[in-house]
Amino acid sequence: MNPFERYGSLVVISGPSGVGKSTLVAKAREELPDLSFSISCTTRSPRPGEQHGREYYFLSPEEFERRLQNDEFLEYAGIFAKRYGTLKSEVLTAVEAGGHILLDIDIQGAKQIRAAAEVSQELARIVHFVMIVPPSLETLEARLRGRGSETEEQLQLRLGAAKAELANYRLYDYIIVNDDLERAAVELTAVLRSFRFLTSTLKKDVFQ
Ligand code: ADP
Ligand code: 5GP
Repeated sequence: MNPFERYGSLVVISGPSGVGKSTLVAKAREELPDLSFSISCTTRSPRPGEQHGREYYFLSPEEFERRLQNDEFLEYAGIFAKRYGTLKSEVLTAVEAGGHILLDIDIQGAKQIRAAAEVSQELARIVHFVMIVPPSLETLEARLRGRGSETEEQLQLRLGAAKAELANYRLYDYIIVNDDLERAAVELTAVLRSFRFLTSTLKKDVFQ
């Protein structure tokens, strides 16, 4: 058996809607192809091109509630009048087996995972918190408008939430400014790569 066998990592990535999380993560995955995304559940409708089981599990409000009552979520939140949640089954077994899993979740979810890690050493040694921020709120608005996926009402909701979310950046261990896409992708990849060398994820004591 390899004496340096490790647990993987669970990386919480947050940042306002439209900041470029999906774009940056797609770039990081070109360098680190074994990174996988946890697929969340949501009660919002799919956008054009989104597929059930690929971007999200799109659930009815009743099905979401049933899973919540069944204690199936690691964390969950109400965002923009819809519900979003991470299934325990999507992440914990995979990280135990050495997988590197990314969670693209909002700050409410990040706070729940922080709190859980305070009482669970197992979770504390595998979880990391990364915040992606725009260079300015004006840039964020331009990107959201450019993506063209939201109604004006949804867009205003998302911009309002962005301000509150950005003010909480100190909850995270790492902050990456998505100004120049190529540079930000290199930075994110470096941060994600560093989690593979932590002593805390070694499964056994070595050199004893
Ligand atoms: P998120 O996943 O955070 O909601 P997206 O990855 O969908 O955001 O990015 C929102 C929009 O901004 C997309 O149209 C994307 O192509 C664009 N974008 C992302 N990063 C940059 C960047 N550094 N410079 C310019 N545009 C960007
Ligand atoms: P969108 O509707 O643009 O896909 O996502 C909106 C917001 O929901 C983003 O900030 C994203 O990070 C967050 N989100 C997506 N999935 C989850 C989840 O499982 N849990 C939580 N807490 N937030 C999520």
